Amino acid sequence: MTTMTKPFDTKRFRRLETIVQGRATSDGAGVQLTRVIGHSLQQRMDPFLMLDAFGSQERSDYQGGFPDHPHRGFETLTYLLAGRMRHHDSAGHEGLLEAGGMQWMSAGRGVIHSEMPEQEEGLLEGFQLWINLPAKDKLSAPAYREVAHNDIPRWTSPQGTSIAILMGALMGMDGAIQRPLTEPLVLDIKIEAGVTEWIPLKNEHHAALYVIRGGIALGQDRLTQREMGILEQDATAEGVYLTAERQSQVLLIAGKPLQEPIIQQGPFVMNTTLEILQAIEDFRNARLTVPPDERAR
Ligand code: FE
Repeated sequence: MTTMTKPFDTKRFRRLETIVQGRATSDGAGVQLTRVIGHSLQQRMDPFLMLDAFGSQERSDYQGGFPDHPHRGFETLTYLLAGRMRHHDSAGHEGLLEAGGMQWMSAGRGVIHSEMPEQEEGLLEGFQLWINLPAKDKLSAPAYREVAHNDIPRWTSPQGTSIAILMGALMGMDGAIQRPLTEPLVLDIKIEAGVTEWIPLKNEHHAALYVIRGGIALGQDRLTQREMGILEQDATAEGVYLTAERQSQVLLIAGKPLQEPIIQQGPFVMNTTLEILQAIEDFRNARLTVPPDERAR
């Protein structure tokens, strides 16, 4: 008889369900990006509606930016790894997003905003994640917060893994932004080769890992650079083990599904087609951002 030594204690962990490659596309005024979560994954990844990854040294891939455009019915998290972007919106918010910083915006009943690269050359790299709003909050007032790199809470594991907590909470530490109902957890994990970390996840949450750089193993499965792995739903598993096969950077997203109808038409995400038609009409009539009590006048 021999006793096997296990590299870590074995909690039940979520396994990889699907690997998603993302689809090259362009949005805004010709910004080249990879749509990792799009329409086809909105039910599976509820409450996440979209995940775009962008990263280019070529000015022509990003210079057009995202000039004035509307949103209604959801929230955005923009996380910049490199470069600078300037934000302006109809609610009066203005900000300069710099490398390592994040911006959270709740479009609520409506914002019109612009997101423009503020650099002439060099690398622009980051993500934009769309998080749905529950039906009851879709027409709430818009909100906005910017959090600079140094103000994003970070948890460092005993093994030296550095985890930026953009949204939600980890190991009892609150992240930069918390949201009720959808409970998004968004982590930027920097992990050294050979290290294994346990990340606790609520078992009702939908969860996925996107490998920014490097490569990781999840049990027997592997995930490499620019792949997103959707984690299976397992009511008996309380998290995930990830092992870095080389020095890696991984974005983890998890959230509580709303289980409400999702109807998207471009920049509007509502629960019914009628609400979408209303949003389009409000936008055409320059009433997208008007509060309901002023609307009646
Ligand atoms: Fe936008």
